[in-house]
Amino acid sequence: MKYQSTRSGELTAPSTHAVLEGIAPDGGLYVTKGLDQLGFDWKSLLQADTLTMSEKILAALLPDFPDMGSLVRTGYAGKFETEDLTPLVAVGDFHVLELFRGPTSAFKDVALSLLPRFITAARQVEGIEERTVILTATSGDTGKAALEGFHDVPGTQIIVFFPHGGVSAVQQAQMTTQVGNNVRVCAVRGNFDDAQTGVKNVFAACAQRDLPGVRLSSANSINIGRLAPQVVYYFRAYADLVKAGRITAGQPVHFVVPTGNFGDILAGYFAKLLGLPVGRLVCASNDNDVLTEFISTGVYDKRRPFYKTTSPSMDILVSSNLERLLFLLSEDEAYVAELMHRLATQGKYTLRADLLEKLQAVMDCGSCNEQQAAEAIGKVWKQHGYLCDPHTAVAWHVAEQFKASCADDAPVVVLSTASPYKFPASVLSAIGEQPAEDEFAVMEQLNRVTGVPVPANLQGLKEKPVLHTDVIDKEEMLDYVLSAMGL
Ligand SMILES: *Cc1c(COP(=O)(O)O)cnc(C)c1O
Repeated sequence: MKYQSTRSGELTAPSTHAVLEGIAPDGGLYVTKGLDQLGFDWKSLLQADTLTMSEKILAALLPDFPDMGSLVRTGYAGKFETEDLTPLVAVGDFHVLELFRGPTSAFKDVALSLLPRFITAARQVEGIEERTVILTATSGDTGKAALEGFHDVPGTQIIVFFPHGGVSAVQQAQMTTQVGNNVRVCAVRGNFDDAQTGVKNVFAACAQRDLPGVRLSSANSINIGRLAPQVVYYFRAYADLVKAGRITAGQPVHFVVPTGNFGDILAGYFAKLLGLPVGRLVCASNDNDVLTEFISTGVYDKRRPFYKTTSPSMDILVSSNLERLLFLLSEDEAYVAELMHRLATQGKYTLRADLLEKLQAVMDCGSCNEQQAAEAIGKVWKQHGYLCDPHTAVAWHVAEQFKASCADDAPVVVLSTASPYKFPASVLSAIGEQPAEDEFAVMEQLNRVTGVPVPANLQGLKEKPVLHTDVIDKEEMLDYVLSAMGL
């Protein structure tokens, strides 16, 4: 099985290379055809524990990595609150899939606990001696999860840029207190787009020069090594529903996914291609509803206002991983390249009618505004005693819309992507309390009011020493990276 660029059939690579590079040389994303032809034995996995499930699924998706079993077991050892990694909890009419029980309380931990192991293993397979430098721009969650995964990993270095004043106090403290002798964390004056564009510019500038002893890579979800581990929790949730007697193996299950960069929901599509009876995949958006419009009309138009919402990890107008779905539906590299070119030059494209039909045969969509998200948090807490974060609330609201229009009685799983304690002020006001000024005090307040325990990694964050205080302009990012790499 080979990976190839979404924009060119000539640019192929084994899975190890795809993970090391992050992105294909022509700017396309690495993807593989024929997952539905693998004859993957999904049924036999339903009895397995989560780590065995991970091993088998990842060995199928990333076949060039030796000993996937030990990569998975060492990668996850001692990091998650529960042995099954991602517990499924029945709440009202729905089942909530808790993806935030990892070391930084965000769903990115599921993949970023393994990515450093993949990079280390791929370096060995490919015989790479140079240091691998991970450059990451973050709107809050990816940065900390990547730091946690890569700190002190031999042969690697990680540099994280976040928008100055653009992340929550909790998220900032999580990053600026990070220990490790190979980590740098730096604030950039500007917004997330400035930081992200800055990182892309650094990649481009570095491609033009000789960088002795180093190679750059990415921890964002354009890297297939970040997507593949996310396929596993769809199987976990399905198996748990079978175990609970809610369904028998073969019956469909619907999944509602709070979506930003489209990685999480695409992993659900991979699960479906591998044979799992995934019913509808429902794409949930906040006020930045570019995907809702696209899935309902086939028109992708990024020329629209950008809203800062209480679910910041979904504040995104260019969903990178959609490119992979376009390829899998069309299997036409030239067509995907053309659409991406149109998006870059005109800010807009329209999907061919036959492909839109294919897309709608798999996916539903819906959006949720700020007031509806706050109401969902309040309602779920009052009616079910379950506390959810603003991203999960967006999915909950869309799940209710979906359920109302859905003819069948199949279970509906709502993916929960962050702990409510990462966004304590929004959550506290949504349940009708007045939050204190200081976000750390709000965390304690939320705990007093609800009795829901604060995750261990967030407790005591305020007392930890701040180790990273760099603040730079976006024009200074290249110099910053070169100097951090010792060049
Ligand atoms: C990253 C993130 C998302 C969006 O996931 P995508 O894979 O980018 O669609 C949703 N919620 C939270 C809390 C996140 O951190």
